[in-house]
Amino acid sequence: MHDLISQQRFSKTVSHGRQQVLLVDDQPLSLAFAAAEIEDICHPIQAHSGEQALQLAASEQPDLILLDAHMPGMSGFEVCRRLKQDPRTAHIAVIFLTVLDEEVNEEQGPRLGAIDYIAKPFSPAILRARVRNHLLIQRQRMQLQRLAQFDGLTGLANRRSFDQVLSVEWQRLIKLQEPLGLLMIDVDAFKPFNDHYGHQAGDQVLEQVATAINRQMQRKHDLASRYGGEEFACILPHADQNGASIIAEGIRDAVQDLQIPHRASTIVPWVTVSIGAKSIVPNVSSSPKRLIAEADHYLYEAKNKGRNRVIAE
Ligand code: GH3
Ligand code: MG
Ligand code: MG
Repeated sequence: MHDLISQQRFSKTVSHGRQQVLLVDDQPLSLAFAAAEIEDICHPIQAHSGEQALQLAASEQPDLILLDAHMPGMSGFEVCRRLKQDPRTAHIAVIFLTVLDEEVNEEQGPRLGAIDYIAKPFSPAILRARVRNHLLIQRQRMQLQRLAQFDGLTGLANRRSFDQVLSVEWQRLIKLQEPLGLLMIDVDAFKPFNDHYGHQAGDQVLEQVATAINRQMQRKHDLASRYGGEEFACILPHADQNGASIIAEGIRDAVQDLQIPHRASTIVPWVTVSIGAKSIVPNVSSSPKRLIAEADHYLYEAKNKGRNRVIAE
């Protein structure tokens, strides 16, 4: 899955339901106390120093960080500054735990990007209420992001994410002068399928086909998306024409291997796809739009030549 949208896929909010909170304090007693107070509303993990907090934040990707401002060695403020500078952790919400009446510090937190602070010594009720509120906001934020980036039916990246990733990869590969492969995939005779088996059965086919396509995405930057209706598109950075054709054939095979019965098809009695594959080394005189048009052109050729096939240059 591509970096730009991977955060969502691996989000604990989406996959496990139980949100993770990283507690950072140099005093073990204070940590144990806070953890015990919130463990029924989240999954607390603990760090005893700034360095450990930075490590855990990057590797565990917690939903929220409760950060003691005063620690020997790296202070909480310094930890927050570094969290916000690191693209892996910049999005994680931070709440400071500060000693009461320190006005200067109270102002420092928001300046560094913290969303809230809790004065020490804190009451358990306030700690729980704040954590619960911020976890709710976080969950809603992730759900919105998921709706914006993924297709509801198939779970693949949606058209918006496809456009965004294609444009980022185009610019990246211009600089590297490396090829960019694009596949346009269309389910064959899908209208007859719907007419014969019904739209709900059709929806299930789209889900199965999407999963089969996604399984063929093996490299880090590869992206399978639902382009619209019964059309899918794959972005294959660093794949040359030969590589793109091989992946396209793998997808065609994988869909055929699903052996989904399709008695209304005039091609073969199971569900198949046609694919247009095109790879180019991006340059300033061409455009992502043109690459899509070219792959689309091959897709139409695949349809015209009888469907259930890959056409590549
Ligand atoms: P071809 O082999 O030329 O691609 O034929 P086709 O029947 O697949 O193409 P056509 O464009 O005529 O029909 C596409 C069909 O896909 C029509 C539309 O109802 C169906 N479709 C599009 N999106 C969805 C969806 O989300 N769910 C279901 N069940 N059907 C969908
Ligand atoms: Mg179509
Ligand atoms: Mg079709």
